[in-house]
Amino acid sequence: MKNLVVLLLFVLVGSQVTLGQTPGTRHTGSMQKELVAKLTGHLPLESGFVLTQRSKSFERAIAAQYLEESLKSIGLQARKHQYTVSNINLIVDMMFHPIEGTNIYAIIPATNASDEYVVFGAHYDSEPGSPGAIDNASGVALCYAVAKQLAELQVRNRNFVVVFFDQEEDDEIGSRAFAQWAKEEGRNVHSVHTTDLVGWDNNGNRAVELQSPAAMLESTYKAIAERLGIPIHITTGASSDNKSFLEMGFDTIAISEEWFNGDHTPHIHKPTDVYSTVNFEYLSSTTELVYEVMKQLAEN
Ligand SMILES: [Zn+2]
Repeated sequence: MKNLVVLLLFVLVGSQVTLGQTPGTRHTGSMQKELVAKLTGHLPLESGFVLTQRSKSFERAIAAQYLEESLKSIGLQARKHQYTVSNINLIVDMMFHPIEGTNIYAIIPATNASDEYVVFGAHYDSEPGSPGAIDNASGVALCYAVAKQLAELQVRNRNFVVVFFDQEEDDEIGSRAFAQWAKEEGRNVHSVHTTDLVGWDNNGNRAVELQSPAAMLESTYKAIAERLGIPIHITTGASSDNKSFLEMGFDTIAISEEWFNGDHTPHIHKPTDVYSTVNFEYLSSTTELVYEVMKQLAEN
């Protein structure tokens, strides 16, 4: 029955949703605002559906569909990576069925032949009861704007993959499935950049936290951040989708608000994590940092 409802919603949404981007808009700021607004129910989707959270399976399916259309609207070939994961033990698995989800991704191909892939992504699901504006529509909007600008570059010496992960809030199930898949496919992954919680800057210093960066990524981010006047904090551990890739031996970096100094959203996982709490200037500043890093990886 649940599957039927999801299927019906897919048909409804698929037939009516038009594109996430304001026609003719080149300014990524307004594009990001629209994306966050529609992912959090601040604005309805084209179908009229109001996405107040992205937690239940049918809500995640609607969000995934919207993101797929949004990537297509900037000229990218968006694809679904659907996965099925068994539950911890056989009895639970038989009672509740295996876990299913969908990552949405697009490849921005190298203009000069390359087998290297730079992966960047953000989770699009939310905690139950939370609209998930900063956690993590902000990260999705960052990656979306970076993807758009990367696709417009004349020269790319590497392939890039933008990916929106499902089920980060369920022990990073979506990103783990994607990392596993990349490994099985034997892709030559240069590095993986994940963004989570990039919409809060109460002290206005634009600072960014980088968690467990690979050495070569740390130096690249630091140099570019210095040029842009963005303070950087380096921390250890893994608290988001970077965990999935770190565990499988990829070179990773996670980009987030300033947890080190306590300058982070107090609304995380709450019903108050809404559109109006997002600091879009900070989101734009952090987007510029990640884009400039990607541009350098495209040019060198
Ligand atoms: Zn998150």
